[in-house]
Amino acid sequence: MEQKKRVYTFGNKEAEGRADMKNLLGGKGANLADMNLIGIPVPPGFTITTEVCTEYYQLGQEKVVELLKTEVQAAMKYVEDIMGMKFGDKENPLLMSVRSGARVSMPGMMDTVLNLGLNDEAVEGIAKKSGNPRFAWDSYRRFIQMYGGVVMEMKPESKEDIDPFEEIMEHMKEEKGIENDTDFSVEDLKVMVTKFKAAVKKQTGKDFPTDAWEQLWGSVCAVFNSWMNPRAEYYRAMNKIPAEWGTAVNVQAMVFGNMGDNSATGVAFTRDSATGENVFNGEYLINAQGEDVVAGVRTPQQITKRGAQDWAKLQGISEDERIAKFPSLEEVMPQPYKELFDIQQQLEKQYKDMQDIEFTIQDGKLWMLQTRNGKRTGAAMVRIAMEQLRAGEIDEKTALLKQDPIKLDELLHPVFAPAAIKNAELIAKGLPASPGAATGQIVFFADEAKKFKKSILVRIETSPEDLEGMDIAKGILTAKGGMTSHAAVVARGMGKCCVSGAGEVQIDYKARTMKARGKVYKEGDWISLNGTSGEVYNGLVETQEAELSGDFGDLMELADTYRTIKVRTNAETQRDSEMALKFGAEGIGLCRTEHMFFEGERIKAMREMILSDTLEGRKKALAKLLPIQRNDFKSVFKAMAGKPVTVRLLDPPLHEFVPHQLATQKELAEEMGISLEDVKLKVADLEEFNPMLGHRGCRLGITYPEITEMQARAIIEACLELKSEGSTAIPEIMIPLVGTVKELKQQEELVRATITKVFEEKKDTIEYLVGTMIEIPRAAVVADKIAEVAEFFSFGTNDLTQMTFGYSRDDAGKFLPVYIEKGILKDDPFQVLDQEGVGALVELGIERGRKTNKDLKIGICGEHGGEPSSVEFCVRSGMDYVSCSPFRVPIARLAAAQAALRK
Ligand code: PEP
Ligand code: MG
Repeated sequence: MEQKKRVYTFGNKEAEGRADMKNLLGGKGANLADMNLIGIPVPPGFTITTEVCTEYYQLGQEKVVELLKTEVQAAMKYVEDIMGMKFGDKENPLLMSVRSGARVSMPGMMDTVLNLGLNDEAVEGIAKKSGNPRFAWDSYRRFIQMYGGVVMEMKPESKEDIDPFEEIMEHMKEEKGIENDTDFSVEDLKVMVTKFKAAVKKQTGKDFPTDAWEQLWGSVCAVFNSWMNPRAEYYRAMNKIPAEWGTAVNVQAMVFGNMGDNSATGVAFTRDSATGENVFNGEYLINAQGEDVVAGVRTPQQITKRGAQDWAKLQGISEDERIAKFPSLEEVMPQPYKELFDIQQQLEKQYKDMQDIEFTIQDGKLWMLQTRNGKRTGAAMVRIAMEQLRAGEIDEKTALLKQDPIKLDELLHPVFAPAAIKNAELIAKGLPASPGAATGQIVFFADEAKKFKKSILVRIETSPEDLEGMDIAKGILTAKGGMTSHAAVVARGMGKCCVSGAGEVQIDYKARTMKARGKVYKEGDWISLNGTSGEVYNGLVETQEAELSGDFGDLMELADTYRTIKVRTNAETQRDSEMALKFGAEGIGLCRTEHMFFEGERIKAMREMILSDTLEGRKKALAKLLPIQRNDFKSVFKAMAGKPVTVRLLDPPLHEFVPHQLATQKELAEEMGISLEDVKLKVADLEEFNPMLGHRGCRLGITYPEITEMQARAIIEACLELKSEGSTAIPEIMIPLVGTVKELKQQEELVRATITKVFEEKKDTIEYLVGTMIEIPRAAVVADKIAEVAEFFSFGTNDLTQMTFGYSRDDAGKFLPVYIEKGILKDDPFQVLDQEGVGALVELGIERGRKTNKDLKIGICGEHGGEPSSVEFCVRSGMDYVSCSPFRVPIARLAAAQAALRK
């Protein structure tokens, strides 16, 4: 049987691997191999595959080292031959680096060891051969530091302590009156090495290993171990990287940026990763090694002259001072710079994307150590792809598929000014419920949101009563509630920044205070919210408006040419409808009528209707509501200008509309001319043990048909009025929370009868549809029967998820994070559609529905309609449209185009 290959060599413009072998060799390993193949100078080395990482966790350290030994020794020989040096030799020692490298880059999450192969003898050999003892001893002290920290776990003993090696160095700097690491003499470095080794022995009880091969295996295993360190695990969880992928290990001959003033090391980007501008940029340090640039020990300098000048301007440094103290690589090492510039162009051409590269210049010679697709902001992502497309470097499909739809969000909302957020004090973390940045003064009650020009509404949780205040506030912070809590859903709909479920925030409504991390904040105190990350900051943090650049518009247009399903929006006001249209919505998929009942006079009439004991009383109140609803509908239909609008009849439990505070109860009693006691009794009567499964949805319309009649009438009268004014309206009336076909039939007949009456009265007609939401599992199962009555289905995946899992939408925040942490669930099913379970019901519903009604129009209006993986599912399952909050419309457009391209 052919033996499994575990080690792939590269060097001297040859390689056993290729760029497309990222799964096996990791991103770094595959690209190191590939750079050799395209003739770029890369120090020789070898990659141990990601599969070995998996074996490491199955078989353990000893077995894996045994399995690897022969191949690694042969690979080392290959490197030795190219370099003309020998690993573990005294006179002419080859030094190696060991680096991690997973399929996708996980910057800084795993471990690296440089200068491997040094000991008390080898250091002398290197000093002699290079004629540069300072460099030799500097490399040795760095090696002990890195190997000690990474492999021997020489870490600070408590979080207050500094790194034990740094501590020794700082001490010596003080003693010698030295500022920079580069100022240590050879003798100093020798003393340092002795001190480092003694410290290792003291803290770990072990001698520092002198055998090169022992050092190598120690480092390789340390990299495999680091795959499971908490940092890496957290990063994987955050970025949905499976643990099974494993990391590869890259073992590579060292080249030295710390060989003197003709040596340097740096990192660079082929374009600006913040703005996307096509300018080569980066940072470097003379006479330095590897981590120094990112570690911040010395201030790195700019690679290009232009970058250095821009930097100096920002720092208020004169051109003379800049040239003297902070010259660019372009100025100090023009030859290697030119070579680097040409290579970065070649790399971008080769990989067709912005590259993040690492390089080292050893004694004037340039070596490339890494290239990978660079991380970037949402704005840079769009700009880079569109510029590459226009330059003919990539095709349309590549430009679209390269986008991360979620990142578009960054382009649509206000953001913190970069300079302001740098020094902001974090005071709590919650869920990133609705993106954007907001700053304002704390108010604890929605009706007081106007108190300050900019306010942040801080609540334990919000209710529909708070709607107006939420709208006025700049941002919303809640202590309880998940991603589909009232606050989260409403805020997303409004495009308003919201952090929900910040459990560590304690709110005292009576005292009008909020406590976070030991500090008390009063009404009027300034706080700032980042709804994109869930972070809460103390004080006023400056924000700035996002700009919708031309590239963004172009990208959206491009997406639309490939998209196969429609994208609608969930909106119930003229303002939201107009905003959604701006973002490209092709209709309204869900107009939640209950949101219309909270403003001003509306809520009064609504409460009167609810609290009436008689049909007459209810009808009287409904008569007041009719013209208000008709006007509301009219403005929404008008804003949508001939695009379809799905209006859902009243859905939430009625107790959400009645006043729960004594003062408002008194007010209502007076208005209605009944006693306070009566109001209280009625409110108590509406209380339910489980309102989400109680008297709501079509159950309301069935028990109070007059509500359905009023709403159907308001919708159709609004449309007829528009028709008479020359505008088109396309109404689709939707019955919520249907579980049996009889429920739907009963409501559908009532709606049609009411509309027929309106047509007769107005002597005019209009086309309309009557359909239903599929949001109860039973409805999906009997979809064939329901489709005989319904003209359209809209999957309400919020409720469908709630009822399929049996997780309360409002209470799941307590356990879902634990479920995700423990791996019971991969994602929050209220955010990312559970395709296996809830998705299966959706597919069943579609299949059965279309069986009896082949013209059935099908969409989704749950929160999932704007989540990329769920949108892809909707495309695959054959829906006609997705519907989502206005700010997610662009995301859905792009995700739908990508889904069509991947299909
Ligand atoms: C749903 O249940 O998915 C839905 C859209 O309705 P609501 O969120 O209003 O219950
Ligand atoms: Mg619902």
